[in-house]
Amino acid sequence: MQVYVENGNLGAGEVGKLQHTFLEVREVHFRPLQIVEETGDKSLMTYLMDMGTPIPIGVYIWLVEGASKNVLIDTGCSADYLTGLGYPSTQISTQEAALEKVGLSVDDINLVILTQLHCDHAKDAGKFKNATFVVQKSELAFAANPHPIQAGWFVDLPKDRVQIVNGDQEILDGIRVIHTPGHTPGGQSVLIETEKGIVGLCGLCTIRENLYPPEALRQLGLRAITPGIHTNAMQAYDSLIKLLNLSDQVIALHEAAYATMEHLP
Ligand SMILES: [Zn+2]
Repeated sequence: MQVYVENGNLGAGEVGKLQHTFLEVREVHFRPLQIVEETGDKSLMTYLMDMGTPIPIGVYIWLVEGASKNVLIDTGCSADYLTGLGYPSTQISTQEAALEKVGLSVDDINLVILTQLHCDHAKDAGKFKNATFVVQKSELAFAANPHPIQAGWFVDLPKDRVQIVNGDQEILDGIRVIHTPGHTPGGQSVLIETEKGIVGLCGLCTIRENLYPPEALRQLGLRAITPGIHTNAMQAYDSLIKLLNLSDQVIALHEAAYATMEHLP
């Protein structure tokens, strides 16, 4: 994409003589890089719905292409780790191999925004030795002393490289996080400004149907479906609505259909 700019730095006697330049600007979007495919009951994603229906659940790391730094969202974890927790999983790629396909190495990543501190999003943080990890203050507080119903899923971070945020905050030009609690207390979602408007990456563990429910449910007044895993079901629903209201389109963290897509949007 080319963007036309006017450079207004004028010297004496140069009034009205603007310099016109064309800058080459990379398009901004999320690139999903799949690490693992998990097979799980659909109700893990859509609360109390379609119980007994196994679905593929994608575990991704997400590159923000076109940003001023090499920004990744989440670090993923291994299939063995998830399988060990009772979620049968298959390794699709490693983080190293997935990034290599787009010309990057794990050492090139400067910034990792962590949507949450559950293992499928943060376990492999140690692989990113040059990155700072952006985490909500409330997520760190909960992870330090997690409630037993979720304690088995929380993981530790390299403590000397954590950037703590508290609520909604701009991280880089055109990239901001918003606090979206309910799946975990300090969950956060990521909004990026793109040519197609504001695109949100939903930080709650969801598939597309959570954000864009079938018409029959809409008729019942549901604008979203609460994630099956949550610390507060109503707060999680409200977070999905907040994200939908702030975005032109929302991308679900675990949607299997994104595995074959190069970028979103
Ligand atoms: Zn998840």
